[in-house]
Amino acid sequence: MYATALDCSAKNFSKRISLDLLRFTPGGISRAELARQMGLTRSALTTIIGDLMESELVREAEDGPASGGRRPVLLEINPQRGRVAGIDLGATHLHLLITDFAANILAEAESPLNITDGPQVCLGKVHTRLNRLLDESRLSWQEISAVGVGVPGPVEAQIGAVSAPPIMPGWDNFPIRAYLSELWKRPLSLNNDADLGALGEWSYGAGRGERNLAYIKVGTGIGAGLLLNGNMYHGNSGSAGEIGHITIREDGPPCTCGSRGCLEAMAGGNAIASRARAAAKAGRRTQLASFTPLDTLSARDVAAAARLGDLVAQQIIAESGALLGIAIASLINLVNPGLVVIGGGVAECGDLLLEPIRKAVQERSLRSSGQAVRITASLLGRRSSSMGAVVQALNLALDTLVDHS
Ligand SMILES: [Zn+2]
Repeated sequence: MYATALDCSAKNFSKRISLDLLRFTPGGISRAELARQMGLTRSALTTIIGDLMESELVREAEDGPASGGRRPVLLEINPQRGRVAGIDLGATHLHLLITDFAANILAEAESPLNITDGPQVCLGKVHTRLNRLLDESRLSWQEISAVGVGVPGPVEAQIGAVSAPPIMPGWDNFPIRAYLSELWKRPLSLNNDADLGALGEWSYGAGRGERNLAYIKVGTGIGAGLLLNGNMYHGNSGSAGEIGHITIREDGPPCTCGSRGCLEAMAGGNAIASRARAAAKAGRRTQLASFTPLDTLSARDVAAAARLGDLVAQQIIAESGALLGIAIASLINLVNPGLVVIGGGVAECGDLLLEPIRKAVQERSLRSSGQAVRITASLLGRRSSSMGAVVQALNLALDTLVDHS
């Protein structure tokens, strides 16, 4: 009896590994290649794939154009097997995705959100917006197998809540995961947004194939998601990667975390917006001065003006880039990643932000790690974190289906 249970769980484990290889190998993978990568005999693999095909999780890919010779049949995840939702709560926005099992996007929505309104108001908005998206795209809750959610604060995985999140007042220890999974009656995964950005970019974006990757989200908050040796690194209580609270200037401006001179307080979205307002008030020649009222001017507006060639806006973005570069150089010295992906709203400026980062990294990181690292903009743009949430939702959905297959 015990041996049977053990065989069963070992088999399920092999099923999950083969599903992950199928998910993250672009273009599909043959049975022979799958057996080789998993170190299984051909007959053991045939049994596993047979089970997965019977439960309609895996299918044979349709043949592309023949290029001569007999080609092996490629396997892929069956996209039609189900759907999941990925949701990213930012400080000022909400982004939602509904995808099939192959992570193809079926529906998408974005709404403004003020995270400081607290959990009841914000999660109510998430619920309303997700229901509306399902309605608009003629999908129903019955089709959604699992949901992934990202939030801009340190997540304690065991309790499914954020602890002392600097830019999320009122959310401390609110049971986000329990609240939403009870409301939606679905398995639910809760993660930090920068961690999800790293996962999203690794799975479907700029970081494919990288084993050591750092994703830096530059928005109102600044956070890093770390993938080390192929695994996400969360730290002891979920707050690894809080690069926004590295001290850049000892006597600098006060930060939301209670300290002073943090990177976030000097280079994050609020710092960018307040520098732009100060420049406009000081009468500098900039199109930012035409914003009325000036108080509504956001970092996103500064980024847009910079892209349109506004010199004052470009200078403000470059100053942020130089400060980010100082902190990123330290991160590079510390963990020696192969790739640093810059994402978040401010990163939409592209090279205007990236070049000063690269320059500071070159000047300040050790040659051995500085030369080994590439610094690039995110490929998924504003979808990085919500795609990471989709990956987590699919993990949950596949776990459940394999356990019951
Ligand atoms: Zn801080």
